[in-house]
Amino acid sequence: MEEEIKILIIYTGGTIGMIQDPKTGSLTPFNFEGIYDQIPELKRFDYQLEFYSFDPLIDSSNTRPEYWVELASLIEKNYDDYDGFVVLHGTDTMSYTASALSFMLENLNKPVIFTGSQLPLRVLRTDGRENFITAIEMAARREGNVAMVPEVCIYFENRLMRANRTAKYNTENFNAFISPNYPLLAEAGIYLRFYKHDIFKPNGKKLKVHKELDNRVGLLKIFPGITKEFVHAALSVPNQKALVIETFGTGNAPTDEWFIDEIRQCIERGTFVVNVTQCVAGAVDMGQYETSLLLKNIGVISGYDSTTEAILSKIMYLLGRNLTREKFIHNMNLSLRGEISIV
Ligand code: ASP
Repeated sequence: MEEEIKILIIYTGGTIGMIQDPKTGSLTPFNFEGIYDQIPELKRFDYQLEFYSFDPLIDSSNTRPEYWVELASLIEKNYDDYDGFVVLHGTDTMSYTASALSFMLENLNKPVIFTGSQLPLRVLRTDGRENFITAIEMAARREGNVAMVPEVCIYFENRLMRANRTAKYNTENFNAFISPNYPLLAEAGIYLRFYKHDIFKPNGKKLKVHKELDNRVGLLKIFPGITKEFVHAALSVPNQKALVIETFGTGNAPTDEWFIDEIRQCIERGTFVVNVTQCVAGAVDMGQYETSLLLKNIGVISGYDSTTEAILSKIMYLLGRNLTREKFIHNMNLSLRGEISIV
């Protein structure tokens, strides 16, 4: 007899489980007990579902690396006992948390599927029910004995995406997430269609969980008219280890001498400076224009087609590993978990 598939559902907070506070009218997380009353369909699964609720539950805008470590540790602790994991999380920072988990969980051979919703489960027109039920299906799906999607993913509004390729881009539509630079991993319609070519194959190695994250990284989005004082302040934060600059187009920035000097001095002080584009889709290509060649020449590292969400968590993960300068840069130029397209 085939063994029953076991899925662990981890509830961290977020709109999916929120209720309206009678005093303030704002949405706040509520205890997930009674989930079977909210979604009685869950009882119809042939899988064994178990639930774990974070305490306290949070609006995901309050998340931070410590929560990611807690989440990764929980998955590590339960890894051998379950076939897959579904993480219910607020949408606001879901791409950050899920990206971070993708780096922390090295050699992941089981699905870790994040989902949530734009409307709470208790609201009649909720998108949470479908997201939740299909995320469980996706986490449980196997081919023979092998998980169909052994990756950290986000499932939202019929689409399964590699987590470290996603960004939340819509505050109100049900399709709140995009994966601008990588194809969908699966789609849910009448059938669940998995696009196997674009999904990682399990490598069969033992899971290794990295729990050291170093968040001494900053983010500077440039804009026409940005002042010298502002740039100077952002680049002079004591003990800053890395700085991401969100540049224009394919990685371009002003060529003003003061701007380049600030960045150069920052790099000379030992800070890693990484270039990502503020465009939603496409990649940085330093050297294509003179306005990015200067950055390349002073040692700015390319973020390729990474999302800002993924690059920040990749940097925290790599800083946490205490690598030499060379190794850090080497790893930034590698696709570690499919987060960048290197041709
Ligand atoms: N503020 C909520 C959160 O991220 C939004 C959501 O879940 O959609 O926790």
